[in-house]
Parts: sequence; structure tokens; C-alpha cells
Amino acid sequence: MTTVNQMKCACVSCLCIVSLSDAINKDGKPYCSDACANGHSEGEGCGHTGCSCDA
Ligand SMILES: [Zn+2]
Ligand SMILES: [Zn+2]
Repeated sequence: MTTVNQMKCACVSCLCIVSLSDAINKDGKPYCSDACANGHSEGEGCGHTGCSCDA
């Protein structure tokens, strides 16, 4: 049985795909990193290759 358990990071400017088992959940949404979960409050990106969600 295959379960789809990957979602795009809930950060709108982030392109990353996260598996729900690894995601950081905040307000019921999955994020790929603390930076995304915090809304990039410190101007940090998630650090994932090819992603510029810190912009
Ligand atoms: Zn990202
Ligand atoms: Zn993200």
C-alpha cells in the first residue's frame, strides 16, 4: 500500500517538498525548515539547494 505523504512546504515562497513525517508542523501546516515555519523572520532561507525562499 502506498500512501502519499509528501507535500509542498506551506511557505508560499518555498518550493521544497517535505515528507510529512519529517516536516515541521506549525498551525497544522507542514514546513521544510524552522526558517519557513517562522515566516523567515530573520531573513533566512531554508538552505535547500535551488530554493530561494529567503528572498
Ligand atoms: Zn525552501
Ligand atoms: Zn520551506
